[in-house]
Amino acid sequence: MKKFLSLIISFAMMLGMSVNVFAASPESEEGIKYLPADVDEITEEIIEEYGLVSTDENGNEIITIPLAPSNDGTVTTMPDIDPDDYATGLVHDGHTVPDGITTPYHFSLTPHTHTVTNQSSYTLNTYEPATEFADQGFTVTKEYSRAIEIHADFSLQGGISKSTVEGALGITVGGSYTRGESESYSKVVPNGYKGRIVYYYTCTVYTFVNETAYVWPNTIPQLITYEYDDCYANGAPRNGYFGLQLIAR
Ligand SMILES: [Zn+2]
Repeated sequence: MKKFLSLIISFAMMLGMSVNVFAASPESEEGIKYLPADVDEITEEIIEEYGLVSTDENGNEIITIPLAPSNDGTVTTMPDIDPDDYATGLVHDGHTVPDGITTPYHFSLTPHTHTVTNQSSYTLNTYEPATEFADQGFTVTKEYSRAIEIHADFSLQGGISKSTVEGALGITVGGSYTRGESESYSKVVPNGYKGRIVYYYTCTVYTFVNETAYVWPNTIPQLITYEYDDCYANGAPRNGYFGLQLIAR
């Protein structure tokens, strides 16, 4: 069970990381001009009028045609993490060494505390594909029953626990968010492009430092030493919308 949980956590982190490698995407905010639902053919004039131009991580131009704002769905949270559950040993809650553990967990026999310091944040506009790419002339369809899963990316280093971070930031760390269920979109990819339907969203990325303060026993004067580890955690996705993403062939 513990190994299984670790796997889930690792997988969630991998997924989260893969989601966020996309560099630029259109701003998800109010004022977006959505394509009327009754427009079937994506002509060059339509692209000109509704298309938002951005660049992917490889420098390719991406054109996004916003289709419709999306409803928010559900959030499922990960269980908190402690050294028994987390194989790479970077995170713990209590400060005791688990029995029989020989792997390099973060632990210390020296009494210490973990504190969130140097908080900062920035806004990330990113996306999650809702369909595969299709070539010109083919139809891309985001099925009604298909839910988009957003796994909020995070990196907790140096032994700070999920619950400590959540308490300090007031967010759910590593939440899994369901979006776009019971919404369906279908478009024919225009000539000269390959296209897919994508779920665009905005989230706040919180960056902070885990300050670990070791209080050394039997030292006069009292010796306290510090370690600093960079961490981050993404907040919930917001301002989500579906769009037709086009890349020139
Ligand atoms: Zn610790």
